Amino acid sequence: MRLSRYFLPVLKETPSEAQIVSHRLMLRAGMIKQSSAGIYSWLPLGFKVLRNIERIVHEEQIRAGHIPMLMPTLQSADLWRESGRYDAYGPEMLRVRDRHERDMLYGPTNEELITDIFRSHVSSYKDLPLTLYHIQWKFRDEVRPRFGVMRGREFLMKDGYNFDLTKEDALHAYNRHLVSYLRSYERMGLQAIPMRADSGPIGGDDTHEFLVLAETGESEVFYDSAVTDLTFGDREIDYDDREQCRGVLEEFTSRYARTDETHDPALFEQIPEERRRVARGIEVGQIFYFGTKYSEPMGATVQGPDGKPVPVHMGSHGIGVSRLAGAIIEASHDDKGIIWPEGVTPFHCGIVNLKQGDDEADAACEKIYGALRSIGLEPLYDDRDERAGGKFATMDLIGLPWRITVGPRGLKNGVVELTSRRTGESEELTPEEAVRRVA
Ligand code: ATP
Ligand code: MG
Ligand code: MG
Ligand code: MG
Repeated sequence: MRLSRYFLPVLKETPSEAQIVSHRLMLRAGMIKQSSAGIYSWLPLGFKVLRNIERIVHEEQIRAGHIPMLMPTLQSADLWRESGRYDAYGPEMLRVRDRHERDMLYGPTNEELITDIFRSHVSSYKDLPLTLYHIQWKFRDEVRPRFGVMRGREFLMKDGYNFDLTKEDALHAYNRHLVSYLRSYERMGLQAIPMRADSGPIGGDDTHEFLVLAETGESEVFYDSAVTDLTFGDREIDYDDREQCRGVLEEFTSRYARTDETHDPALFEQIPEERRRVARGIEVGQIFYFGTKYSEPMGATVQGPDGKPVPVHMGSHGIGVSRLAGAIIEASHDDKGIIWPEGVTPFHCGIVNLKQGDDEADAACEKIYGALRSIGLEPLYDDRDERAGGKFATMDLIGLPWRITVGPRGLKNGVVELTSRRTGESEELTPEEAVRRVA
């Protein structure tokens, strides 16, 4: 993309309404624009990041054997009356009435809808196990929408639902989700720690939240510092291997790590004092096992091996896709702007032309631009007739991992400058070598 033809409305001033750094940087970098409280447009740069986060989530869910689909945003109230949650959900639910006076709602989550789909089409235990998921906009009329996309009212969530014959099978689905979530967050450059949590209005027995440690996080968390040493890394995983999946769950959840809702001071005290941590975290996902909570009232049963109907064991598993855009920035920025991890960056590399209009500089930039594109990378070429300082400030603000700076002086010696956004280190290289290093 050529910056002269792009839509990147960066702000010079720091917006005063934004209280936390990710919100400020998303506004300044022209990623989002608020349309009303907690409701945002995703401008082109923000949209690219959102799509990258989504892509990682899809890839990891599909790898785990979970099946993508798409359910609507508007749902009929009747389904929620069946589960008993229409009244129980409270004012966070946005209720609307259509022209025929039918009660509808903008889905805050999808347990009812998916259970209805399941009961309409699945009748035998032979069709299990089954895990379906989608990535769709949700609406929750939060009392205090704030921090930009971190606590929106309209937000993008991945929510997946497993249907299993037995509790044991459903717990395997739970463990698969834990593993696939760990992988997803790591690919986004994040450490998200699974913590024992409270099940809240979804109800159920087993649940973990995934938290990214950050001072601006809304949750208070208590943990053994040993949990921060764990990484999933690039180890092989066989999602059908129950022992292996359970092993990962045990590895990542055996140490003390809890949110304030489930915090147990007596247990916490048993951790050696130097490893006790009280901090704040951003909830970027949650997994639940809730058994037959929805399948029983809604009649989601299958015929078991003995011919008798049994209600299926279910769980639901969510990732805050839009919240993650903010969480990644909270975890990765400096005073100049965002520092995108490679996995989610909106462009791989910036090209800064120090002397737009100079034949040699223009030609060298075009060549680098073409070379990067020909190997499947997406560069952002700042081809505007602007001063170098302004171009550098924009590149630093939008946080691309690499910048190639091209100017007449370097070209005389056959070199350009390659700069890493994360370390700030620069190297003089031939244009060909610079392209190779970015690839
Ligand atoms: P929170 O405690 O932050 O209100 P939640 O526990 O109500 O979140 P879940 O029902 O567990 O949310 O939804 C799954 C994920 O969706 C959360 O882990 C979070 O990352 C994301 N999410 C929830 N509410 C919002 C929101 N208002 N804005 C953006 N993302 C959200
Ligand atoms: Mg909530
Ligand atoms: Mg929560
Ligand atoms: Mg939650």
